[in-house]
Amino acid sequence: MIKVRYFLLPFIVLFLSACTSSSIGKNVSENKVAKTSGLSKQINSTINNIEGLTEANNKIQDSSKDSNNKVSRKVIVIDPGHADKANLQKEQLAPGSTEMKIKDGGGAEGIVTKTPEYIVNMAISMKLRDILQKREYTVIMTKTSNSVSLGNIERAEIGNKAKADLVIRIHADSSDDTKVTGASMLVPAPINSNTSEIYSISKKYGTEILNIYCNEMKLENRGVVEHSDMTGFNWSKVPVVLIEVGFLSNPSEDKLLSNISYENKIANALADGIYNALN
Ligand SMILES: [Zn+2]
Repeated sequence: MIKVRYFLLPFIVLFLSACTSSSIGKNVSENKVAKTSGLSKQINSTINNIEGLTEANNKIQDSSKDSNNKVSRKVIVIDPGHADKANLQKEQLAPGSTEMKIKDGGGAEGIVTKTPEYIVNMAISMKLRDILQKREYTVIMTKTSNSVSLGNIERAEIGNKAKADLVIRIHADSSDDTKVTGASMLVPAPINSNTSEIYSISKKYGTEILNIYCNEMKLENRGVVEHSDMTGFNWSKVPVVLIEVGFLSNPSEDKLLSNISYENKIANALADGIYNALN
């Protein structure tokens, strides 16, 4: 009963208001307009609220994306060793040093395949770049062309300028003993203000990367070796390592190092090593 009474109330109000007006029709339509405009105001304000919330939500999502990117986007510089010709110009071995060293002696050559080292280094470097980019790293190459010959100070400056989390230099080894196989990691020795800063972290990264690399590749682990005689290390202000991925002087390793699927395996193992070292 109460419901019926309340239900009737608007009609009673409408009737009374109509009685005080000269035109029922005019009032009803004005009432409708007022109600409609009230409703549309409410709808607009609801839409505005939703838009405001969506905008705020987007901002939150954007800022979380930015902070995630800042956290996850480590910068890796890949430095493919050597070039298609030697560079016999000399450069300062270390900042403040009077000792000069040639920029690039030219690298090794496959004992069976005769493949020059720079070809192997570049092939692995490009594959490593692609894998690291897929894994959300920012990757900077010191060079992507075999005809570009860089000095080692120039190589180091690229890493410094990029404020790299890691510079990894890719090389293949050679020995007079053709039986020698396996991989080794070269790291800076703490001989100047640059290398004293990066020595520990470079050695830590180098050790972890080499261990994972040798495990995955089932290669002999020839260990981490500190070097004070490498220009590219001595000028570096950021963590830097140099891997010798295998021996071009060993007939079976030489053949493998020119095999595309083996090069892919190398690049994957290095990427796994880098991931583990940096996380
Ligand atoms: Zn080399």
